Amino acid sequence: MSKWVSFFKGRCPRCGVGKVFVSPNPYNLPLMLTTNKECTNCHLDFIPEIGFYWGSTYVGYAITVAFSGFTFLISTLIFGFMNSLNLTYVLINGILLFIFCPIFFRFSRMIWLWIAR
Ligand SMILES: [Zn+2]
Repeated sequence: MSKWVSFFKGRCPRCGVGKVFVSPNPYNLPLMLTTNKECTNCHLDFIPEIGFYWGSTYVGYAITVAFSGFTFLISTLIFGFMNSLNLTYVLINGILLFIFCPIFFRFSRMIWLWIAR
């Protein structure tokens, strides 16, 4: 399995086999935050220290800002520049951020894990 495929499937950064998250579905809300302690294949520690994933909040912030910039660009192309800064854009962007929150959460953790481990 290539590195990108294993990244998007939420697999171990070292071997690409073990699952990082307990549930494969990010919208399984009770298990959305639950990360396995170690890789089932190569025993890489996914939680090496307390607060390891605090750094992923910065990654999540960057993803959120990039996504909001993307939706701003799309709304600008569709509705024009002056109309894209209105309440409709803010509401639609807020709803989309709420819907994609579990996916962004997992991406930020995966990026942080792949960078830091
Ligand atoms: Zn592994």
